[in-house]
Amino acid sequence: MRLVKSITETKKIIKLEKNKGKIIGFVPTMGYLHKGHLSLVHIARRKSEFLVVSIFVNPTQFSPDEDLKKYPRDMKRDLKSLKQEGTDLVFYPSVKQIYPSDYKTYVQIKDLSRLLCGVSRPHHFRGVTTVVLKLFNIIKPDIAVFGQKDYQQAVIIKRMVKDLCLNIKILLGKIIREKDGLAMSSRNIYLSTQQRENATVLYQSLKWVKWSFNDGLTNPKKAIKKIRVMIKQNSGKVDYIVAVNKNTLEPVKRLKKGTLIALAAYFGKTRLIDNTIL
Ligand code: AMP
Repeated sequence: MRLVKSITETKKIIKLEKNKGKIIGFVPTMGYLHKGHLSLVHIARRKSEFLVVSIFVNPTQFSPDEDLKKYPRDMKRDLKSLKQEGTDLVFYPSVKQIYPSDYKTYVQIKDLSRLLCGVSRPHHFRGVTTVVLKLFNIIKPDIAVFGQKDYQQAVIIKRMVKDLCLNIKILLGKIIREKDGLAMSSRNIYLSTQQRENATVLYQSLKWVKWSFNDGLTNPKKAIKKIRVMIKQNSGKVDYIVAVNKNTLEPVKRLKKGTLIALAAYFGKTRLIDNTIL
């Protein structure tokens, strides 16, 4: 496994591999890897012949009041896990490599970036699509794997790939959870013991809505109201709860098979997201 910081060097290595006719697989991450990330790496490994994982904490997707500076990092552990998963190249650029001082270009996906997480994080997806497109241009993957955990992100990336005619197949990996159902996240380490316990309500509320839907519930307002109460009872502060079409992310009038239930809530200062598809 090679660890490469330089864009030029990475491009050179990948060009050689492409010339050999290899399928390039790619998983972008911000590091501090957990089993959720590694499940995506595993999918990419199976579907490709040269596997690239990037570790880059992307400053443009954080707003000034967010956790960029204290975002957790553990390069040593990440490299060990990635090696075990059979990664061929870890791309680990510096911020200056990605955003030199004369950097001016941003990619913005209309409408989709303004909904759900985009309401409270208005610049977030512009940062995500900008860095992902740049990473795509450096790595030139044939396939790239994203997690359903960040469902809106995956929809936006798929839109970008389609709109800009990129020749990349986007695959989605399912949400990997802790034993008690909490979706794995690098940010879970910010939670106190009590907050960690309370946060399991997110999964419980999604399970409740699935169960109720199977039992005949079709009114999205009722579902959202009940989830809101459940989260509040567990000292969570709701950012949003939505029942939306899984492709357009527009609200649905009735719950049906394929409806996306997505939510974000704060436990203390930590903002967690989760979702399920009915
Ligand atoms: P991040 O490092 O948070 O930028 O995440 C990198 C990738 O891992 C994204 O595609 C996420 O959706 C995915 N991911 C994060 N948490 C999980 C999880 N619990 N299960 C599956 N994929 C995840």
